[in-house]
Amino acid sequence: MSFADLALNPAILAALTDSGYTEPTDVQAQTIPAALTGSDLRVCSNTGSGKTAAFVIPALERVLAARLDPAQRRPRGEVSGPRVLVLAPTRELALQVAKAASNYGRHIPGLKVATVVGGVPYGAQLAALRKPLDLLIATPGRLIDHLDSGKAILASVELLVLDEADRMLDMGFIEDIERIAESLPASRQTVMVSATFAGQVGRLADQILKPDAQRIEI
Ligand code: AMP
Repeated sequence: MSFADLALNPAILAALTDSGYTEPTDVQAQTIPAALTGSDLRVCSNTGSGKTAAFVIPALERVLAARLDPAQRRPRGEVSGPRVLVLAPTRELALQVAKAASNYGRHIPGLKVATVVGGVPYGAQLAALRKPLDLLIATPGRLIDHLDSGKAILASVELLVLDEADRMLDMGFIEDIERIAESLPASRQTVMVSATFAGQVGRLADQILKPDAQRIEI
């Protein structure tokens, strides 16, 4: 199978070609088409499998599809929150996901990707949240700070991704994740990526994914 078989937008295919990637990895070959149907997903996969592109590419497809749909066009000048929210356990991982999104989205004109992570000053993050956004990549604790202060708008989120969900729970983020999920539209799509779905991760999946969520195991 090649990326060309996945019926991706030419802007994304061009970025994959720039990166020298022609064939999707197993997790990409299974996750990308499933995510494009709009289904909720529980993806059991490890780091190094190519999982980041597996959720970033469908996220970018969603942004592109919305731009082509006149009904979804956003009024000029109006601050609109992100269509896609990715939660990641650490600042390093969040920045890595943002870099991947900017890379695979490099041919999408005006694509706006922002990060909201702990350990850095609030100022630049507040400025980014005040502008229209396509993708927001965040660590749960810092995003809660911005939600509490009313600075993060999440009413426009259509796709929520939990990356390395098992690590986020190991780090004690369960309540933050539940609160964030509750503040998102119920109609959203949710993709959970984790090395395991045992114990608490499985319970969280049962709680926040729709009952007909697809399971992908690599
Ligand atoms: P990840 O599991 O997302 O951390 O990705 C692991 C590594 O695989 C990263 O360095 C990616 O740039 C690389 N990668 C992702 N997708 C592909 C692909 N389809 N072909 C070759 N390398 C890839």
